Amino acid sequence: MPLIVTGSIGIDSVHTPTGTAEDVLGGSCVYFAAAASFFGPVRVVGAVGDDFPDHFLEVFQHFKIGLNGLERRMGSKTFRWRGKYHENMNIRETLEVDLNVLGEAQPPVPDEYRDSRYVFLANTHPAAQLELLDNFPDRALAAADTMDLWIETERPTLLELLKRVDGLVLNDAEALMLTERTNLVRAAEAILQMGPRFVVIKKGEHGAMLWHTHGQVVLPAFPARDVIDPTGAGDSFAGGMMGYLAATGDLSLAGLGRSLAYGTMTASFNIEAFSLDRLKQVSRGDLDTRLTEYAAMLDIGESIEAASGSVV
Ligand code: AMP
Repeated sequence: MPLIVTGSIGIDSVHTPTGTAEDVLGGSCVYFAAAASFFGPVRVVGAVGDDFPDHFLEVFQHFKIGLNGLERRMGSKTFRWRGKYHENMNIRETLEVDLNVLGEAQPPVPDEYRDSRYVFLANTHPAAQLELLDNFPDRALAAADTMDLWIETERPTLLELLKRVDGLVLNDAEALMLTERTNLVRAAEAILQMGPRFVVIKKGEHGAMLWHTHGQVVLPAFPARDVIDPTGAGDSFAGGMMGYLAATGDLSLAGLGRSLAYGTMTASFNIEAFSLDRLKQVSRGDLDTRLTEYAAMLDIGESIEAASGSVV
């Protein structure tokens, strides 16, 4: 079923212990859409400025991302973000952020996108997220992401949004900040009190946990040997997750658990290079192969049998 996303489409500069990438394609919407595209068609609604390089559009074409909702606004500038990762890659610092076109009015939703049933509000201004949501009264599922900037500066609008979405996807530090808790289980429970039926808390290299009104799923990350750039890990996780849900329509707790596993796979590839460079090389088959490897690592039933048969 059709999936639509709004969020940032930006020009990123990223510094990691392994190197630097200047002025590369980024933005929550872009990472999300690329990851979701492995499962089915994905539509984006967002604006860029007249400084948006033409060659970035080739990346959208590569992932077959529908472009009718992308507005290049003359006289405006594209969203820009500069971030730096510390030695362990878990701690990130925003060095500069220029909202530019992200602080202006949202582009309209094209008529042909109005039948979208799965809606993802990737990280952007909560007012823009609410506005997009209003276009899809018959949606099957709406989920949102957010981040520290919006929790600090737009809390009332964000709380309004949380009353209206089915799910929230955010990272551990953001969950603690939003709920003013110091424990993730308590934070998850507090978020469910704010409105959503489920919350996914991403814990970077420590995996992800799904708290739902009907149960919980906890998964580790895929163990990574080389992390080149974690930027977009959260968005590509959400893209894999929502892409799987939109493709299967399976909104059971088991389906949500499987969607978390696919999100784990898309994020694990994304962090292997800067920008979208690694996802551009990946196929759906690669995701499934890695998922098989991952599932084998999770199969503690077999390991217990093997242990009782003594493998040492
Ligand atoms: P992630 O690593 O998944 O949290 O997302 C990284 C992406 O988010 C980068 O490509 C940035 O361009 C984008 N980004 C950074 N700050 C913001 C913000 N305040 N609002 C929207 N997008 C942002």
